[in-house]
Amino acid sequence: MIKVNGNYLKLPGSYLFSTIAKRVSEYKAANPDRQVISLGIGDVTQPLSPSVISSLHEAVDEMGKRETFRGYAPDLGYDFLRKAIAKTDYKERGCDIAEDEVFVSDGAKSDSGNIQEIFDAGCTIAVCDPVYPVYVDSNVMAGRTGTYDAKTERWSNVIYMPCTAENDFVPEFPKETPDIIYICSPNNPTGTAMDRASLQKWVDYANEHGSVIIYDAAYEAYISEESVPHSIYEMEGARTCAIEIRSFSKNAGFTGVRLGFTVVPKDLKDSDGVALHALWARRHGTKFNGAPYIQQRAGAAVYSPEGRAETKALVSYYMENAKVIKDGLKDAGYTVYGGVNAPYIWLATPEGMKSWDFFDRLLEGANVVGTPGSGFGPSGEGYFRLTAFGTHENTAEAIRRIRSL
Ligand SMILES: *Cc1c(COP(=O)(O)O)cnc(C)c1O
Repeated sequence: MIKVNGNYLKLPGSYLFSTIAKRVSEYKAANPDRQVISLGIGDVTQPLSPSVISSLHEAVDEMGKRETFRGYAPDLGYDFLRKAIAKTDYKERGCDIAEDEVFVSDGAKSDSGNIQEIFDAGCTIAVCDPVYPVYVDSNVMAGRTGTYDAKTERWSNVIYMPCTAENDFVPEFPKETPDIIYICSPNNPTGTAMDRASLQKWVDYANEHGSVIIYDAAYEAYISEESVPHSIYEMEGARTCAIEIRSFSKNAGFTGVRLGFTVVPKDLKDSDGVALHALWARRHGTKFNGAPYIQQRAGAAVYSPEGRAETKALVSYYMENAKVIKDGLKDAGYTVYGGVNAPYIWLATPEGMKSWDFFDRLLEGANVVGTPGSGFGPSGEGYFRLTAFGTHENTAEAIRRIRSL
């Protein structure tokens, strides 16, 4: 008889966003006359930009002609895209990253979930709390996290680094030394970002302790402050301790197109001197047959002068929403964080209300959907996430309603 991978059975509860969707559809069924606005899920709403669309069309046409048809893509990515990434995202920012250190993929979610495969099962992980759920759950599936305590909502082998208003949402060094440290900056869900000095300290810490930092920079395009680095490789010493993950989803709206990449520097080695770069290349070669040519052409368009201008406009559109949410809530007396270098606003619930109670108050009183902070980890209790990914009209209306609660 077969037996399933028992680690999957250890995963607690249902996925946060399924729980929210269920609650919302129940509410809608009971109140069919109400118009519900969602500032909940982290998905974009604006269409793809013109240069992306025309490169998609061109690439499709090429695929229909014998002379320009392409089969399997190179499993690490087409040179034209790896070059554009290395040049624009790294060399132009003074980061020493070569194109063959860039691994093109179908997105940051897969990469952030899969990257743990190249590490020993005994490696310990550290995550921020609250956290993007993929980091922990993918390690649960790999059997690396020990046992789950439903009361504390914590895994015995995971090191949690609370990020709250008390520490300005910047993780502090843990008491035990982790092998793998997950950092997401600008952060989902808190919408805050680490500045250069804080990130340099983490890079120094990782080099000193022989740890690796898995740096999720999916929201890099939203950075507006000079003090916030766009890449971990802006930090001295990052080539020997950091892997960086990026996505085309939140900047260029590729959530439905699927494209991302991961950077693994060749200087990054384990305690026996084995290069992680070779292992990740092997993993790509064995389990991945390359992101589609059509998508990679669209990705290259994002790096063209027109594409860069269009992406900037998309980001500005959402950041205008962030400002409307942030200013509107502040004005109404809420304590709000984020929304400056990220499309997320993280608010403290009024009078220390539980996150899920505030969810109900917002849904029933304002017909607005957000995400309870506690859904991202125990330190998210008492907080609530609103996203700036809606339309201007819906965002303004949602804030009007919340203000009149
Ligand atoms: C949205 C998101 C991703 C997923 O990006 P895809 O490229 O669409 O898979 C990764 N990391 C964080 C923190 C995100 O919020």
